[in-house]
Amino acid sequence: MNLDNNFENRMKAILGDEYEELQETLSREKVSALRINTLKKCSKGEGQETLNLDKSSKESGIDLPFELSDKEIPWEKCGKVYTGGTPGKHPYHEAGVYYIQEPSAMAPVYFLDPRPGEKILDLCAAPGGKTTQIASKMQGEGILVTNEIDKKRAQILSLNVERCGVKNALVTNMEPGQLSDVFEGYFDKILVDAPCSGEGMFRKNDEAIENWSIDNVKLCADRQKTILDEAIKMLAPGGRLVYSTCTFAPEEDEEASLYIYGKGLKPVEATMFPGMVRGNIEYLKAVRDNLNGLGKTTEDNSLDASIQTENFEMIKSSTIRLFPHKIEGEGHFLCVFQKDGDISLNEGLHGINGKLKAASNSEMKIFDEFAKETFTDETFDLLHVGTPFMFGEQLYLAPIGMPGIKGLKVMRPGLHLGTIKKDRFEPSHALALFLSADMVKRSYDLPSEKPSAMQFIGGQTIREAGKENGWYLMTTDGYSLGWAKYAGGTFKNHYPKGLRIFT
Ligand code: SAM
Repeated sequence: MNLDNNFENRMKAILGDEYEELQETLSREKVSALRINTLKKCSKGEGQETLNLDKSSKESGIDLPFELSDKEIPWEKCGKVYTGGTPGKHPYHEAGVYYIQEPSAMAPVYFLDPRPGEKILDLCAAPGGKTTQIASKMQGEGILVTNEIDKKRAQILSLNVERCGVKNALVTNMEPGQLSDVFEGYFDKILVDAPCSGEGMFRKNDEAIENWSIDNVKLCADRQKTILDEAIKMLAPGGRLVYSTCTFAPEEDEEASLYIYGKGLKPVEATMFPGMVRGNIEYLKAVRDNLNGLGKTTEDNSLDASIQTENFEMIKSSTIRLFPHKIEGEGHFLCVFQKDGDISLNEGLHGINGKLKAASNSEMKIFDEFAKETFTDETFDLLHVGTPFMFGEQLYLAPIGMPGIKGLKVMRPGLHLGTIKKDRFEPSHALALFLSADMVKRSYDLPSEKPSAMQFIGGQTIREAGKENGWYLMTTDGYSLGWAKYAGGTFKNHYPKGLRIFT
């Protein structure tokens, strides 16, 4: 690995003799992992199950394209380290059964501690690893606003929310400052997984190595403070803020935590798992001395002012560093803070946008006809909990209490149910991925070890005589994959054209 000299000198200044250990670790293979999506259930006989990798795949008769390691991810019980293979190429990936995410990246959500029913913001969310992790902890209850500033990345975020069967997410594509105009004091919990210089991802991402410079570290540190200003505005009194980066640069880590503290938030003690270490004010001093040595003395007096050992000692227990030579994973930093106040007063509060306008009776009549024919009674009722509303000719189900979307740049306002086309209803891919076989009257399974599951994902028509006409939820080993409409001996494939994978 060809690292910038300035980076190496800074890391030596921070880590001293330990730097060699880090360097040696960075020359090894990155750690690969995935997280089982607990929103995704399959129904086999009685009840529903999520994928259980602890039962060997052989025992369950399913041949998975990766080797599991026996290493645990202590902060995420659904996380699994794997040692080789291509989980991204299995039908389970398209079905949202798991999300590929390296272990350290799973830590911030542990400390955010999302719960069903809360109002949560993931401010810098694409491609969606942490959003889908938060969603799985919320189990469809509460409001998850997940935002990404970059339009293309917001589209990917929206697709990952769809793939993982998330029901209660409002996906937006906005600048933090625009979002805070609408959501001042609204959220119980906010995650700022900030854009950063990415030093912790050098093993995973060559671009992070190529783009590294001291100037970029400085640029990231300034941008993070601007984002934090807006996040703090949006946090309700008593609300929790988790700030995280995937960099070692103390200007973006310890410095940012001091900035949050300077804004009046209280540090929250974050319990450490073996291998995790606390942030360290000495790192900040070391890089400043290093900058002075390079003649790059910072003109920013606020940096000097904030390097106060007393302040940092007070917040130290709220900061955590994950170093690749100390844990199984890449480099990360996180810190946990809370706004003063009583969070229970935030329950049931609406933002300034008020409530959504529900779909009309005539629009709902078209959906209801489809729903009665397709879903079990229980699912029919479940799909009426919240506010069904029209967004163009698309029908969405917004979670209970979801704020109005006036003035927001929205990519996905809740669960997309489908399209109302004159007098008929066409179900959406998102709805298919949200459902499981026991929630519908008609389903058809394509076992993952046979070519047919990938052929369905590739858009092929499936032939079989003697089935009842109508919409079928197509599944693989019981996990929903998409829709097909059966008539005249064939299942017409409704897998979205833009998502098809040709094998
Ligand atoms: N949380 C994501 C996940 O787990 O998949 C990763 C987020 S990534 C570290 C940071 C994101 O912040 C990027 O998608 C980037 O486009 C976005 N970003 C860049 N500049 C931003 C800004 N000024 N305000 C908010 N977000 C920004």
